Amino acid sequence: MEKNVEIFIEKIIEKNPGEKEFHQAVREVAECVVPFIEKNPRYKKAKILERIAEPERIVMFRVPWLDDNGEIQINRGYRIQMNSAIGPYKGGLRFHPSVNLSILKFLAFEQVFKNSLTTLPMGGGKGGSNFDPKGKSDNEVMKFCQSFMSELYRHIGPDTDVPAGDIGVGGREIGFLFGQYRKICNKFTGILTGKALNWGGSLIRPEATGYGAVYFAEEMLKTRNSSIKGKTCTVSGSGNVAQYTIEKLNHLGAKAVTLSDSSGMIYDPDGIDEKKLAYVMELKNIKRGRIQEYSEKYGVEYVSNKRPWHIPCDIAFPSATQNEISKEDAKKLVDNGCICVSEGANMPTVPEGVDIFLDANILYGLGKAANAGGVATSGLEMSQNSLKLTWTREEVDERLHNIMRSIHSACIKYGKDGKCVNYVKGANIAGFVKVADAMIDQGLV
Ligand code: NDP
Repeated sequence: MEKNVEIFIEKIIEKNPGEKEFHQAVREVAECVVPFIEKNPRYKKAKILERIAEPERIVMFRVPWLDDNGEIQINRGYRIQMNSAIGPYKGGLRFHPSVNLSILKFLAFEQVFKNSLTTLPMGGGKGGSNFDPKGKSDNEVMKFCQSFMSELYRHIGPDTDVPAGDIGVGGREIGFLFGQYRKICNKFTGILTGKALNWGGSLIRPEATGYGAVYFAEEMLKTRNSSIKGKTCTVSGSGNVAQYTIEKLNHLGAKAVTLSDSSGMIYDPDGIDEKKLAYVMELKNIKRGRIQEYSEKYGVEYVSNKRPWHIPCDIAFPSATQNEISKEDAKKLVDNGCICVSEGANMPTVPEGVDIFLDANILYGLGKAANAGGVATSGLEMSQNSLKLTWTREEVDERLHNIMRSIHSACIKYGKDGKCVNYVKGANIAGFVKVADAMIDQGLV
């Protein structure tokens, strides 16, 4: 079996040279899915995995814009339309200086399986730019977004491809992008999700990824007769996902003790309560400041250039970026007694770290299952846009909760291993089967 995985991966590397994040994401899926395909020859004959690993379409484009000094800046824009067998392409836009083809292809590939798991009809895509919104004025961000959409608009549509936010793309950016689309196309349609409430957004969408990661942790803990209540949790990042993870942890009686950004981390042993979280939201979403300021305000420890994984915890919620938990970090977490990891971020744990979690038999909820609540609620936003209706907060939250429960059940269906559940195997195979069957039904396209 392993030999078949290696043969498959070698071909991927040869075809996609230098794209190490993409290789990593495909390998993780192949390690679970190739043995499954060996037992299900119809998938092998149709070369489904080979087809899924090849994007349906990639668009790359120039994004020129004028900065506040009147100087011309040039960024690169991307949209990866990975797979539309079960619905229109769906997946976020990332604006970050590290963005390149490899990172967006890994994210788009993951998105295909994640979206399939949500039970909603959404294909997988991802896009973005190497533009860095940090340190830019609102005017510069608007100019950039307008230029970006001036090209992207011709590739998206409510039944074609519906982007959303990701790192560096929050409510402000979605607003500027939507405004430009509306102006160019003279149409008010649901071509983006994560919109504000007064122009087509859904209640609970901002909260959904963080809440979903906590709901998923709760489901995992139930399998061991445990719960979130009373647990000490470490959280990385301090953006959208981290903020709402902490909000839900507070609702459920847990204590979140860390936050981080790309400059460093804070450790607040008393817990980041509702009041402190409101301060973080203001600091990060409005003032666009650094997490170091939290340590100054509340007199707690700040460590620069460090992630929070050395801090003892019961549950870890990586919520910043890919490969943020190294092999050593994973070992430290396990040695310090961590019993559960629920990934709000995409692919935050390096493969050797994943092996450590699986070997230690802790509850390990990989990103494509644990953070699927975000895109699921984007799917609910699309449904509300189509119906021209608005559901209540309770209604959307209940649907989100049910979707997270059903993703957990799908992981159990395909990942049960004796008394334990291998969520990596479960999520990858469950996500694969739905897309694979749809591709076979639709012929060679
Ligand atoms: P935000 O931009 O709101 O926040 C990102 C946070 O992570 C910031 O605190 C940022 O710090 C930090 N960060 C980003 N890059 C790095 C890095 N290279 N090293 C250290 N810290 C970093 O993004 P989101 O909260 O939306 O996204 C966080 C993660 O969750 C991403 O992996 C994203 O793909 C994933 N995700 C998001 C979803 C969503 O609905 N938003 C849905 C599913 C997954 P700084 O401010 O210094 O840059």
